[in-house]
Amino acid sequence: MTDSGADLAVDAVDVHKSFGDLEVLKGISLSAAKGDVLSIIGASGSGKSTFLRCLNFLETPDRGRIRIGGEDIDASTGKLDQTCIRSLRRRVAMVFQSFNLWPHRTVLENVIEVPVHVQSVPRAEAIERGERYLTRVGLADKKDVYPSFLSGGQQQRVAIARALATEPEVMLFDEPTSALDPELVGEVLGVMRGLAEEGRTMLVVTHEMEFAREVSSKVVFLHQGQIAEEGPPKQVFSTPSSEPLKKFLERVL
Ligand code: ADP
Ligand code: MG
Repeated sequence: MTDSGADLAVDAVDVHKSFGDLEVLKGISLSAAKGDVLSIIGASGSGKSTFLRCLNFLETPDRGRIRIGGEDIDASTGKLDQTCIRSLRRRVAMVFQSFNLWPHRTVLENVIEVPVHVQSVPRAEAIERGERYLTRVGLADKKDVYPSFLSGGQQQRVAIARALATEPEVMLFDEPTSALDPELVGEVLGVMRGLAEEGRTMLVVTHEMEFAREVSSKVVFLHQGQIAEEGPPKQVFSTPSSEPLKKFLERVL
């Protein structure tokens, strides 16, 4: 670890991942300072989800180093220390495309699950925390409802409250609005925009180019398992330099 990296919230160095013969990540290096919002864009199959999943070791990278906050894991060294992985995961919360709420638990029970059962937060405190974050996403009045009674946009906002309730240092979002009806996208992006303005560190895989352009500090374009281009949103969207990015933007803008 270099001293210059000390105030980075996320630092990934040369991350490689293959599934069988398919090399999905061919050496991804990227970093985010505290409070940065990185948007990760790219065609389907370019490795965006795999990269996010490697960051919290939902997938184990074949090679490379991942540092989140003070936790530093070198995946190249063979056997990984599960204690380090658990400790790294506690610093990260992920929001998935498909919400992944427990159907037989109320909204509040979903939100306090990890604080109570993984983080050993006393139940009363977890409830107070859960109610605070449900208020934050505009769903305080839904706390005793089951997820199936909510719209997709509301369910995703619950999933965001659940992520916030673990008080993570870094939030990962994997296409959080892709499963939503178009009219529900805005309410979720609105919450995410608010989190960005609060100074939260966020890595967001998204197809919402307007969000990426307006909210991110940096946009990273993944192409066939490599970063083909990255930079401030204005540069990436207005003056793309690589052919793959130009083609991608022609398709999505
Ligand atoms: P993206 O999120 O950019 O669409 P993914 O990271 O999901 O891309 O997938 C990248 C490639 O890796 C795809 O070709 C996908 O089929 C493959 N892949 C992803 N996960 C697995 C897995 N668990 N086993 C085998 N192949 C996988
Ligand atoms: Mg994906």
